[in-house]
Amino acid sequence: MSMFDKKTVEDIEVAGKKVLVRCDFNVPFTNGVISDDKRIVSSLPTIEYLLKNGAAVILCSHLGRPKNGPEEKFSMKPVAAKLSELLGIEVILAADVVGEDAVAKAAALKSGEVLLLENVRFEKGETKNDPELSAKFAALADIFVNDAFGTAHRAHCSTAGVAEHLPAVSGYLIKKELDVMGKALTAPERPFAAILGGAKVSDKIGVIESLIDKADIIIIGGGMAYTFFAAMGRGVGTSICEQEKIEVAKGLIEKAKAKGVELLLPVDNVVTHEFAADAESFVVASDAIPADCMGMDIGPATAELFAAAIKRAKTVIWNGPMGVFEMPRFSNGTKAVAQAMADVDAVTIVGGGDSAAAAAQLGFEDKLTHISTGGGASLEFLEGLELPGIACLNDR
Ligand code: AMP
Repeated sequence: MSMFDKKTVEDIEVAGKKVLVRCDFNVPFTNGVISDDKRIVSSLPTIEYLLKNGAAVILCSHLGRPKNGPEEKFSMKPVAAKLSELLGIEVILAADVVGEDAVAKAAALKSGEVLLLENVRFEKGETKNDPELSAKFAALADIFVNDAFGTAHRAHCSTAGVAEHLPAVSGYLIKKELDVMGKALTAPERPFAAILGGAKVSDKIGVIESLIDKADIIIIGGGMAYTFFAAMGRGVGTSICEQEKIEVAKGLIEKAKAKGVELLLPVDNVVTHEFAADAESFVVASDAIPADCMGMDIGPATAELFAAAIKRAKTVIWNGPMGVFEMPRFSNGTKAVAQAMADVDAVTIVGGGDSAAAAAQLGFEDKLTHISTGGGASLEFLEGLELPGIACLNDR
């Protein structure tokens, strides 16, 4: 029984059944219009499979963070309209989540029809995993399908609680996350390289700890690297550096050494005098950062070093930018890593969040094996933690 070996929609008879699918329709809006429908588009294979196989499909998701019950601006109305357009059939929208209207519409739903419930977070019990609310969700359907990886690290009613009452399987999105990331973590093709960046060591200690046991090469960039430099006794100037994590970083360096894991840190950095997009910048060696300067990106020699390491690997997992990539002048290191991943002939996985956005922005989506759809969830996954939204699914 593994976290990774879960039943999918293909392992269960859905014909004539009402199937409740937890999707991730938490899409961005600009002036009230959906500005990126990727999450809705990527949910289609699971929905279409269910429709084709004779299920009546009840969809649900959260959208934004409504705090006090129903709020028009967090309504699923625009999502229903977009789904209708993409599926080419009417998507019925319930006026509530598990209230009178949802119950009546779910009861009347026929095979081949699609009902979308209102924003699950309109129910205050949702994020508290309230057992009564979970039972109400379950009463709407015969089968539960989770296809929302982005919320799989949360034990909410619609992500986990409902599975206590119904047969529970994964949709195609979660299946792919489990297949690709699960394989990389349990039986990776080697060498296995992990590239970690982002602002803080503290957010990623668990991930580094866990990957030191699995990877052959660990590459550290981004703001995190400066805490490691401090652990090595180097001056870091005014760079982001977590004093209280220096001992932890020392421990991680020791652990990598003891396990024979190659730990790669930057050898040069792009530094500035201030944290600003137009700040004058220059490249310095990583062991010679001036006292009045801060590191904003990895330098060109480091980009080459990291790219060369990536090119030696057969499995590569990346989470976190190499620098302050939101400012174009400090995005080169992040771009170089994305480029190296796109070029290498290996299983390449980008673990959500900023690195996924960077890869997409560069147009590398088709050149990577997998871009995880969940930021927090994929970090917890890499950490080896059990995700409630996956643990609750039936084992194969
Ligand atoms: P995370 O959410 O932990 O992946 O961190 C992403 C953030 O880290 C981005 O907003 C980056 O701007 C930031 N970051 C990366 N490198 C640095 C750096 N050298 N100094 C400050 N922030 C950084």
